Amino acid sequence: MGTTTETCDAVIVGAGFAGLYAIKRLRDAGFKIQAFEAGDGIGGTWYWNQYPGARVDLECWDYSYSFSRELQDEWDWTERYPTARELMHYLEHVADRFKLREHIRFNTRVDSAEFDENADMWRIRTSDGKTVAARFFVPASGVLSVPKPPEIAGIETFKGEAYHTGRWPKHDVKFEGKRIGVIGTGSSGVQTIQALAGKCKHLTVFQRTAVFVVPAKNHALTPAMRERVRATYAERREISKITRFGIAAAMPSESALDATPEEMQMKYENAWTNSQLLGFRQCYADILSNDDANATVAEFIRGKIRKIVHKPHVAQKLLPTGFPFGTKRPCLGDTYYSVYNRDDVTLVDLKTAPIERVVPEGIVTAEGLIELDMLIYATGYDALSGALTRIDVRGVGGARLTDKWADGARTYLGLMVASFPNLFTVTGPGSPGPLANMSMSIEQHIDWITRCMEDMRKNGWTRIDTSSDQEDKWMQGVQDIVKRTLYLKADSWYLGANVPGKPKVFLPYLGGHGNYRKKCDEVAAAGYEGFTLSKTKQAKTAGAT
Ligand code: NAP
Repeated sequence: MGTTTETCDAVIVGAGFAGLYAIKRLRDAGFKIQAFEAGDGIGGTWYWNQYPGARVDLECWDYSYSFSRELQDEWDWTERYPTARELMHYLEHVADRFKLREHIRFNTRVDSAEFDENADMWRIRTSDGKTVAARFFVPASGVLSVPKPPEIAGIETFKGEAYHTGRWPKHDVKFEGKRIGVIGTGSSGVQTIQALAGKCKHLTVFQRTAVFVVPAKNHALTPAMRERVRATYAERREISKITRFGIAAAMPSESALDATPEEMQMKYENAWTNSQLLGFRQCYADILSNDDANATVAEFIRGKIRKIVHKPHVAQKLLPTGFPFGTKRPCLGDTYYSVYNRDDVTLVDLKTAPIERVVPEGIVTAEGLIELDMLIYATGYDALSGALTRIDVRGVGGARLTDKWADGARTYLGLMVASFPNLFTVTGPGSPGPLANMSMSIEQHIDWITRCMEDMRKNGWTRIDTSSDQEDKWMQGVQDIVKRTLYLKADSWYLGANVPGKPKVFLPYLGGHGNYRKKCDEVAAAGYEGFTLSKTKQAKTAGAT
């Protein structure tokens, strides 16, 4: 372990939505903090994901901070679903407005974190060779921030340009006149494909699994639209706090199985035409819990694909099958299916023509060589646990987090890992995380963590931990809820199925954002039920702690 050069109350990892809010809340509460960011700028996900077409799939009104009325009133979003660039500028504005940059050390990665049991302090080592001692460790490093490589033989031999959507380069990438291959058709692939069709010489899409893509209906925002939302913004935010998905959307109670065909057709047409992310899931209560109800949506969307895509054999390849609608995150896209009517776009179905290897000239599939000048990997992420397990984290007795999570990530309340005291996870395993509005979830988590740290300071506690029993109970609850849904029928990143060798465990808490918030508040109000709080004998307090 290197020489300790600094001491603070909390180390925060990341300068995205979560990291910035953690810096603000903890600093304002009087804690001495130090944040580290691997990139050279603000933005987290939106800093790294500047690929063509990148934008959020939640309306800007909901996917933004709610903590400051002034911020809400002064920031004018330009589009319903802002681009990655606009989101990055928003976060840069937040960092400047609230003077957060001075707390961040950029271009610095956290390599390891070791808990010192005698002092109740984390010793955190960074890529610049320094060590910081901190009572609390708050890795706000994102749930979709570690790109998953494509695991295809020969990728290093390719002589053209190659990029992963989740690590898009900062230099200007030229597409004109190039033969481009995109591997992957999740949200990132769909957005990239739409943006590049017609902008390059030829686009080849390598599809392993066809996904459900519903219209985004993105549009520019006018001052009148912004005023309309601002008029009831406070109410909208309050409602969002108690809903299942963390947005002010009412969920129905009727079953799709009780609807007449005409009623159902009308609802689905309306969801298709006036789309938003939750559109189809908001039509009936059992879309995500009953196979037959789900099949009605799936078939409706397949019907749309058959109509939009002119060539039946291409349409056939694009039909999502083998998993229920909504169990892999549906993608938003206005032109996705019509892209395949273009002569300069080719769809390669990897189920019938698997990739054999990448060669210097392009990609060899079972049907032969496809020559390419550029390869774009839209192959996803080691989600939810990946950002934490790539840090060498060691808790009580030197136990490694990677060993503890060898059979799947586990937490109590989506906030703490037993025997890794004073380490708070943010929107990670066991929390609603990506299955609710992320910005709302982030604020809820950081508010809870801040309150907990304040209570500890007030009471002179230096350590908070939980037990394996509490983890078992909480994670069992997470599994019990998901079993009542259709989510386990898809090989999704929600259960780590996209990463070879990763244990298949469904990680997000599906009980809803509102219920989760209530439970966290009750636990805190009951004196941090399920947690153990103690004082170290040699309470080596740091700063304000
Ligand atoms: P993803 O949903 O995991 O999709 C990855 C794609 O790559 C899938 O089509 C996958 O096929 C394919 N793939 C992976 N490895 C492959 C291989 N070796 N060979 C061929 N194909 C391979 O990743 P993502 O598109 O980056 O999206 C991840 C999540 O990030 C989204 O679900 C969403 O929550 C978030 N996101 C949101 C937005 C937005 O807000 N609009 C944009 C981008 C991402 P299989 O399905 O067969 O595994």
